[in-house]
Amino acid sequence: MAQNKRILVTGGSGFLGSHLCARLLEAGHDVLCVDNYFTGSKENIRHLLPHPCFEMLRHDVTFPLYVEVDEIYNLACPASPIHYQHDPVQTTKTSVHGAINMLGLAKRIKAKIMQASTSEVYGDPSIHPQVESYWGNVNPIGPRACYDEGKRCAETLFFDYHRQHKLRIKVARIFNTYGPNMAINDGRVVSNFIVQALKGEDITVYGEGSQTRSFCYVDDLVEGFIRLMGTPDDFTGPMNLGNPGEFTILELAETVIRMTGSSSRIVHNPLPQDDPTQRQPDITLARQVIGWEPQTKLEDGLVKTIAFFRQTLGL
Ligand code: NAD
Ligand code: UDP
Repeated sequence: MAQNKRILVTGGSGFLGSHLCARLLEAGHDVLCVDNYFTGSKENIRHLLPHPCFEMLRHDVTFPLYVEVDEIYNLACPASPIHYQHDPVQTTKTSVHGAINMLGLAKRIKAKIMQASTSEVYGDPSIHPQVESYWGNVNPIGPRACYDEGKRCAETLFFDYHRQHKLRIKVARIFNTYGPNMAINDGRVVSNFIVQALKGEDITVYGEGSQTRSFCYVDDLVEGFIRLMGTPDDFTGPMNLGNPGEFTILELAETVIRMTGSSSRIVHNPLPQDDPTQRQPDITLARQVIGWEPQTKLEDGLVKTIAFFRQTLGL
């Protein structure tokens, strides 16, 4: 059995964070979950609360935190465009001040720290699939910039703390991930389409639906997080974590309608500004360094996600 560690997960009551907390507890670690419940929910971690090695702290990472842990997974940040654009100044503060506070904490207590970065650092990419060496194509003044530039600045801070203070860092660039524990009102495409299909509402495809995304099931991603955290200290990333299977948004809509047996119609709403036209991770680095690649096919992951939303909606 792995050595027992004290592990802090910021954003731990959100979608990815709740799965990560559960996995770390299963592995025998002490888990401190920190969240301000902006987009996360107590429901996601309610089943973990009785666990003797689980602790929950309501806290906003834009303020300093004083705790003693061995490892930090920094996930706190709204991830859905509708939520991160709701209060864009707060989104940048969460990414940047949150990173400074968690890096400062890691420096003081000599903890290893992983950043949940994003494929959004590549913006609307002009090379395809995206490799880690690509510097990206981001509009710094558009509506997505609070998130994209916030995450880019957080990466900068991670690497400066590494160079300047010898901090042990890991940077994961996460591509679109889906699964149970996404909020009904999350607003991202997989949860929107499933909820709409189950309720018999119109499926809202933005634009023509020819834009592409690559969808990773949450269990695969969490496995990637844990393997990345376990790499030797001289390995920092950034490392792409995502499923290379690429689909158009229209294909996703049709798949969800078929799999739910829904009578919903597809409608076309305006395409949001700066919506990336294509996105697919090159995961060569993850294959080489951590021997990782996603195991879950889109339809298999959708079966589990649809079952979760059926239950949550009481259908
Ligand atoms: P989520 O919105 O479900 O989770 C984010 C969590 O952070 C929520 O519980 C929220 O309440 C919390 N939070 C937000 N601001 C906070 C603050 N100031 N202080 C403390 N807690 C705060 O989203 P998610 O999909 O679970 O994303 C988790 C992380 O992974 C985010 O950093 C996100 O940018 C990154 N990421 C996710 C994806 C994906 O497809 N799921 C893709 C790329 C990057
Ligand atoms: N999208 C859509 N309908 C929705 C929600 C999203 O067509 O109800 C599209 C969105 O325009 C984007 C893609 O689906 O092209 C993925 O959007 P999401 O918000 O899930 O994540 P993004 O990758 O854009 O951050």
